[in-house]
Amino acid sequence: MYYEPFFLVLVGPSGVGKSTIVREIIKLHKDIKYSISATTRRPRKDEVNGKDYYFLDIPTFKNWIKEDKLYEWALVYGDYYGTPREHVDAFIRESHDVIFDLDIQGAISVKSQREDTVTVFLLPPSKEELKRRLLKRGDNENAVVERIKEIEREVKTASRFDYIIRNDVLEETIKKVDAIIIAERHRTKRIRLS
Ligand code: ADP
Ligand code: 5GP
Repeated sequence: MYYEPFFLVLVGPSGVGKSTIVREIIKLHKDIKYSISATTRRPRKDEVNGKDYYFLDIPTFKNWIKEDKLYEWALVYGDYYGTPREHVDAFIRESHDVIFDLDIQGAISVKSQREDTVTVFLLPPSKEELKRRLLKRGDNENAVVERIKEIEREVKTASRFDYIIRNDVLEETIKKVDAIIIAERHRTKRIRLS
């Protein structure tokens, strides 16, 4: 008996904790692969090219779009972000589950291309806490203002996704995401009995 692997997309406001949760989940589940995105945004302190993101210049990113190298892409807070197709294709061939950290447009695009994708919307405990997290991460005042501006619009879309988790206490959130992964692996539609 084995199960068909699936895509797990974490979506929600910037700073809510998506990449922190991804890091913990891939530590727990060594067989789940993280889809490292490409972006034209400048690296934050501590971010590593090829580990956190592929940091590209705008002409290179636009070439990747033209050459159909991106599974999906979007303009988010004035910078380009996209999912490199090559890695996702390889993970699927190797039968890995794949975890993504995407904005709303990206989550909707992935779900429309692969209907059995599981989407989890992460809610911040409050606007004030989200602001604290963005500042703690080292985002500058402009980046924080730009990201906070979007929160109400983003939260309104939460009901479009399969699950909603309020990322309050991190350990509790990890347990909930882990429970979703385990349950999704046992869905009848994913199980192959021979
Ligand atoms: P995102 O990937 O959604 O933009 P990050 O994972 O970069 O967000 O998290 C933003 C900041 O919030 C980081 O400093 C991270 O350590 C912190 N953080 C994440 N989850 C929690 C939590 N549950 N409680 C407190 N701080 C958190
Ligand atoms: P940040 O600059 O905070 O790392 O990311 C900004 C936003 O872009 C977040 O909502 C993040 O989920 C989203 N994002 C990161 N990578 C991708 C991607 O490949 N595609 C899309 N559509 N959004 C992404």
